[in-house]
Amino acid sequence: MKFSDILIVGGGPAGMSAALAAADEGVRITIMDRWDELGGQLIKQTHRFFGSEKEHAGTRGIEIVKILREDIAKNPLIEVKCNTDVLGIYSDRVIAYEEDRLYHRMTADKIIICTGAAEKMLQFENNDLPGVYGAGAVQTLMNVYGIQPGQKVLMIGAGNIGLIVTYQLLQAGVDVAAIVEAAPVIGGYKVHASKVRRLGVPIYTKTTVKTALGDKYVTGAVLADVDDKFEIIPGTEREIEVDTICLSVGLAPLGELISQAGAEIRYIPQLGGFIPKRSESMETSAPGIYVAGDVSCIEEATAAMIEGSIAGLSAAIATGMNRPEAIEKRDEYIEELRVLRSGNTGKKIRDGLAML
Ligand SMILES: Cc1cc2nc3c(=O)[nH]c(=O)nc-3n(C[C@H](O)[C@H](O)[C@H](O)COP(=O)(O)OP(=O)(O)OC[C@H]3O[C@@H](n4cnc5c(N)ncnc54)[C@H](O)[C@@H]3O)c2cc1C
Repeated sequence: MKFSDILIVGGGPAGMSAALAAADEGVRITIMDRWDELGGQLIKQTHRFFGSEKEHAGTRGIEIVKILREDIAKNPLIEVKCNTDVLGIYSDRVIAYEEDRLYHRMTADKIIICTGAAEKMLQFENNDLPGVYGAGAVQTLMNVYGIQPGQKVLMIGAGNIGLIVTYQLLQAGVDVAAIVEAAPVIGGYKVHASKVRRLGVPIYTKTTVKTALGDKYVTGAVLADVDDKFEIIPGTEREIEVDTICLSVGLAPLGELISQAGAEIRYIPQLGGFIPKRSESMETSAPGIYVAGDVSCIEEATAAMIEGSIAGLSAAIATGMNRPEAIEKRDEYIEELRVLRSGNTGKKIRDGLAML
């Protein structure tokens, strides 16, 4: 059976950072991703990143991908397997994967799971009409393939993703009729909300979508106010004319492989749902199984890269083949993550982590 010192499942920002950090310590890595190229969600993020220089602050997500891919391609210790779907993890860290329509097995000393997250759906009448998209699909159409998803969009959700994708729609020449948000307050950063408002997009809080209108495709939507329990207030319904409804209502970690590996999972709403219990070094309760990125806690790409570096270094240290400075380097990343999560914006994550 094929063997690698460290196997990384998922080649988004977390997986790519884990691979680079671990390979720096002299261990052999195999990184697998079901897509045809590494990058994960980063390949569609056209805005400049915040955060620290180490995680490429000031650079656009699509440029960060290129830097990480080039560094990986240059590193002889990293084997990349794209178009490769990891299907299961069994005892003794044996994984099953599908490549070229064939099933294979592989084993590794340590495994790092960086499978990211899936977008959540929202229940409303006619939500299966063509023209109802997830924000990730809208970003892929616009920023990867250069296709406008529609002419006039209703955005559901005023978290950071909803606000950023609204801005990207406007940049792509698409009209955004409104952003609606069921919560009483805007969840995303004020800077993003102010920017879209300045560009003429109204944000309606305590509001939801009740129905998508249309026969063969979306031609409009019925909006309604909601009460404190998120129940629709009868009589507040009104119609809005749009050809696209974009859902940005949260992400759920893709943690099936972690559960299969036997790691302890807990439901922590502040971190995005079912989250693996893990140590500061990102090792789960299943020995030799590490996690990083959205699968371990729904956050953002900078945090995913830092967590990836911590997991990569921890796994390398645990193989025993690392350099002496590795522990010091990992402690620096742990401190960087602590600083990133300090302040008001990190409170939800800190509260969630305290419950793990
Ligand atoms: C629509 C959307 C917009 C976003 N916008 C921003 C933004 O503007 N700024 C920001 O900082 N963050 C943004 N985020 C969040 C950010 O993209 C994520 O936090 C970050 O990408 C998480 O990195 P990751 O490596 O954990 O996961 P991902 O980037 O999701 O990568 C996971 C990878 O794992 C692969 N994979 C999954 N399962 C398997 C399997 N079984 N076998 C093989 N491969 C597998 C996937 O193909 C994917 O490439 C956005 C997220 C979404 C969904």
